[in-house]
Amino acid sequence: MDNWAEKDKQNIWHPFTPLVGSADPIMITSARGIYLHTHDGRKIIDAVSSWWTNLHGHSNPHIAAAIAQQANNLEHVIFAGFTHEPAIKLSENLLTILPKNQSKIFFSDNGSTAVEVGIKMALQYWHNKGTPKKKVVAMNGAYHGDTFGSMSVGDRNIFTDPFSKHLFDVAFIDLPTKENEEIVLKHFLELIEKNDVAAFIVEPLVQAAGGMRMYSPAILDKLFSSARAHDVICIADEVFTGFGRTGKNFASNYLTYMPDIMALSKGLTGGTLPLSITTCTEKIIQEFRTDDFTKTFFHGHSYTGNPLACAVANASFELLTGLDCQDAIQRIATSHEQFRTEMSRHPAIKDARCLGTIFALEIKSDESTSYSNTIRKKIYPYFLEQGILLRPLGNVLYIVPPFVIKNDELQIIYNSIKKFLDLNI
Ligand SMILES: *Cc1c(COP(=O)(O)O)cnc(C)c1O
Repeated sequence: MDNWAEKDKQNIWHPFTPLVGSADPIMITSARGIYLHTHDGRKIIDAVSSWWTNLHGHSNPHIAAAIAQQANNLEHVIFAGFTHEPAIKLSENLLTILPKNQSKIFFSDNGSTAVEVGIKMALQYWHNKGTPKKKVVAMNGAYHGDTFGSMSVGDRNIFTDPFSKHLFDVAFIDLPTKENEEIVLKHFLELIEKNDVAAFIVEPLVQAAGGMRMYSPAILDKLFSSARAHDVICIADEVFTGFGRTGKNFASNYLTYMPDIMALSKGLTGGTLPLSITTCTEKIIQEFRTDDFTKTFFHGHSYTGNPLACAVANASFELLTGLDCQDAIQRIATSHEQFRTEMSRHPAIKDARCLGTIFALEIKSDESTSYSNTIRKKIYPYFLEQGILLRPLGNVLYIVPPFVIKNDELQIIYNSIKKFLDLNI
């Protein structure tokens, strides 16, 4: 393609990308397995699963076949008043692996809207019930998406500053650590003690975009059980942690107390098509099961329940629940754990952590740990040069690979990280 870089620059506004001072984007002409193929013949290891979406490798043949078959049969149909087999099959499939208390699936198109739907379900639950609780509690450092509702419940930072006046009020608790656990729990109890809190939303066990910050299932169980005692709806944003990422199908599987509402998206179609779901329990549904028209959940998108996306999600589900994939997840987790032990002794590392297929290194820095930390400007081009896509969150370098990655390929990434750290301390 002639002048593609020029044409791209002229016509396209890329996400999360400054219009000035950014390197030209890299043109990808094809991708297979863990590799992205560039227009100039290079191969890049996709160590971040293309924004954490890809599970079974790029251009996966099983998934490609599912799209082709579905595209020749039914590409799309309005989802109000109509239904189709791919969506019915997908809801049935998902309910076999979701926590047992989840009873219904609501479709939308991306993680932000899945969260948005979850918040709206929770608030309307109280509205329909006739006890309109309005307060929402969330966690500092959270990222729940880019729409107004999902921004409101997320960390207030450079992403949200231009909109701060338009975001609704939310009470925030700190991320619980070993050191502050009692304080956070006490703060949470103070916030909910009047029984006027509608919902509590969290990314269970891992705050992803916030810097792959991890916390224990034990403390989240304490928060969820307290929430339940004060009739607070618990929303688990598993957009990132869902579908095997954390070593179990869902981060909630590490808990004793299950959420009332779950938002899922990134791994749902194995990284192939945009699709998301918000699931909820029978308790939530009950307040909507009424002949009062005004209590309807008036929410939907043009492409809700798109048959192609559902067919792909079913194909991804078959792969995910297969033995090969489940073994691969455990193999990656073991490998990450070994590398974590090694890295935790490295002089350039402040903290090394992992959970399942997620591995993260917090690099020591004179600047504070944040998305704006300038080390990222060194990390990103360095690894691209080595043929590895690693997109750090400031000074947090992480690996979130497709599950089809092999051990020797993981080793290539690990070695490259060690080399980078040795050169940069
Ligand atoms: C990525 C992400 C979102 C937003 O999903 P989009 O598909 O990018 O809108 C929401 N919550 C979490 C935890 C995420 O990681």
